[in-house]
Amino acid sequence: MRAARIGLTGGIGSGKSTVGQLLCVAGAALVDADQIARDVTGSGGAAIAAIHAAFGADFIDALGALDREKMRALAFTRPDARSRLESIVHPLVGLQSEKQAQEAASRGCPLIVFDVPLLVESGRWARRLDAVIVVDCDADTQVMRVMQRNSLTAEVVRNIIASQATRSARRAAADILVANGRDRSLTQLAGDVSQVAALFGL
Ligand code: ADP
Repeated sequence: MRAARIGLTGGIGSGKSTVGQLLCVAGAALVDADQIARDVTGSGGAAIAAIHAAFGADFIDALGALDREKMRALAFTRPDARSRLESIVHPLVGLQSEKQAQEAASRGCPLIVFDVPLLVESGRWARRLDAVIVVDCDADTQVMRVMQRNSLTAEVVRNIIASQATRSARRAAADILVANGRDRSLTQLAGDVSQVAALFGL
């Protein structure tokens, strides 16, 4: 039987990574788009030659990785730099994700979960997915969790939330909504996730 391919998304602090880990424990294969993006822009990564050609040697550090600090500074003053970088990195992330998914499917894994933080924002994933899981919670809970996890101020977290898709846009993209507000304990969340996994034969 063909492996089911589902997208997993959620705003910062929603509990998306926690749900991804729980799905993994249940037997799903996780394809982590952020991790792949870090790999292709890391030392000797597949995006480095193109980044060098587009932005120059200044943006490659001594280890042959993208110099993130310099790129952040450039993107701050030149917004088009971000889209240029994305036009290099996103197709490579797409290819590498597909490779990992096919490897998992050929091992007989019944469920492949694409962990894509910007799934709703980017739009390019929809056609590859059978369903989208959205982990949902209110902004105050997001702020509380991320302040604790990353020692950030409430203001910084609220700015990140404001830069992401709105809660209603994300909910509208959901085939399966996992509610993870502050009223849900980790034990309850684990129970909900095993019910989702069971939908896919796990
Ligand atoms: P995301 O990947 O969406 O940014 P995480 O899964 O890392 O979010 O969760 C953010 C933080 O909140 C983590 O420290 C996680 O352990 C905690 N967390 C997530 N869901 C719950 C919950 N239902 N109860 C208590 N803590 C939670």
